[in-house]
Amino acid sequence: MTTTHPDEIATPAPGPSLPEGRLYIDGAWQDSQSDERRDVINPATAVVMTTVAEAGEKDVAAAVAAARRAYDEGPWPRMPLRERARILNRAAELIRTHAAELAKLESVDTGKPVHFAEMIDLGATIGHFEYYAALAWSLDGSVRETAIPSFSYVRREPIGVVAAITPFNFPLILSTLKIAPALAAGNTVVHKPAEDTPLTALRMADLLAEAGVPAGVFNVVTGGGPTGELLLRHPAVDKVAFTGSTGIGRKVATIAAETLKHVTLELGGKSANIIFADADLESAIGASVNAFVFNTGQFCMAGTRLLVERPVYDDVVAGVAAAAGGVPVGDPTSPQTVVGPLTGERHLAKVQSYVDAGTSRDGATVLAGGGRIESLPGYYFAPTLLGGLNQGSPLVQEEIFGPVLTVQAFDTEDEAVALANGTPYGLAAGLHTTKIARAHQVAARLQAGMVWVNTWGMLDVTLPAGGYKQSGYGREQGSEGLAEYTQTKSVFVSLG
Ligand code: NAD
Repeated sequence: MTTTHPDEIATPAPGPSLPEGRLYIDGAWQDSQSDERRDVINPATAVVMTTVAEAGEKDVAAAVAAARRAYDEGPWPRMPLRERARILNRAAELIRTHAAELAKLESVDTGKPVHFAEMIDLGATIGHFEYYAALAWSLDGSVRETAIPSFSYVRREPIGVVAAITPFNFPLILSTLKIAPALAAGNTVVHKPAEDTPLTALRMADLLAEAGVPAGVFNVVTGGGPTGELLLRHPAVDKVAFTGSTGIGRKVATIAAETLKHVTLELGGKSANIIFADADLESAIGASVNAFVFNTGQFCMAGTRLLVERPVYDDVVAGVAAAAGGVPVGDPTSPQTVVGPLTGERHLAKVQSYVDAGTSRDGATVLAGGGRIESLPGYYFAPTLLGGLNQGSPLVQEEIFGPVLTVQAFDTEDEAVALANGTPYGLAAGLHTTKIARAHQVAARLQAGMVWVNTWGMLDVTLPAGGYKQSGYGREQGSEGLAEYTQTKSVFVSLG
């Protein structure tokens, strides 16, 4: 592993116009009515960059009231589709213009390398606004033939006020996956970004306003779980779009059920990556390392369980261990860096405790990495490969959300599928093979919302993504992602 020397780690300022302690409500920056504040820390340096408000009951009530008014009385849901699409396209253009600034903001907030943030996070964000701007035109209804003479038709309408609650790992993309289709369909939004990474959501408020999104249509409240819970309990919120851990997702579903809100849940994963003996091993090893180190393993679809057919097990383990050890870890501002720090200190402690328990309790063997990189000032964790674990170990069953990969051997295709499907999660899966029939057959048997063949992590705005089993329900991206923000109304006009 190559690391950046601590003296070389830059501490860039978080960016322009960060409204300390203010919230974006009803088209304006407003002082929070709560006295609570939270530090926003650069995880590469552990330096506090700014503080944000911990929004309370009055703040959430004001944001929901603004969104409600904008939905019930404002122009947005009634606007011609063409005009809404034009505004979303303008938003995409403004994000493109500010891409470097937003990427820097995302990098100092999360620790992800700034060159990845610009290429991946900003690329996807712009793409989603453009895609849903185009798709807004497809919000058409249909005429139906009925048994009793009528002129009957089905209208596709928005749902109302959407609460968009997102996690810390891809702040901009994950909020966009909700905001772009929700707005395209004519809903209004109150967004609560993750408490540790709120900066780009706040910046987006200004850009969306500049694009022409009317007051009250997009609101941002900052804060932690209690702020999110206030949104979930608010009777004027019609839909909750949640991305986060499976544990909190369960809670979200329970609370939202009290007022029977529409809910989509994009939750955790523990995705298996299968390498068959007939695979192109060099390509499979490269993809498998990328699968667990990308975004420092803080990727819901990270490939964190490697399953290798026994004849090639030793070669693959040696290759993955060597490649993991060679990944450049360090300064997120350096274009050479592949792996930045974990996003928070608490999170680092959790990842370390998993690895420690794996070795001391479950008999894991450390084949690469194993712990915190003490020579760096921020929350850095070495890419870690663990062997010797069985399927029942919590390290194989539970989401660690760091750069930690377990490896197991298998003897038959059936066994590989059973191991791959053998956790409560079902977000993504992958397989490496040169046999075409095997690729399709195994892909069909894997219980996951996304399956990659001979690669890992390729996502596209046109492909719906989401969970099987306890990885959630509902889909984001694609036309399916737009449909989640609409409801149908049937109109029966009697011809009798
Ligand atoms: P988290 O579940 O701790 O928090 C997610 C969001 O929920 C945050 O904004 C948080 O403040 C809020 N929250 C916490 N308690 C709440 C409550 N009681 N009511 C309402 N809101 C509440 O997740 P995290 O640690 O920020 O992110 C990591 C998790 O997100 C991982 O499990 C990861 O797999 C998952 N994730 C899933 C996807 C996906 O598309 N399936 C994408 C990215 C991340």
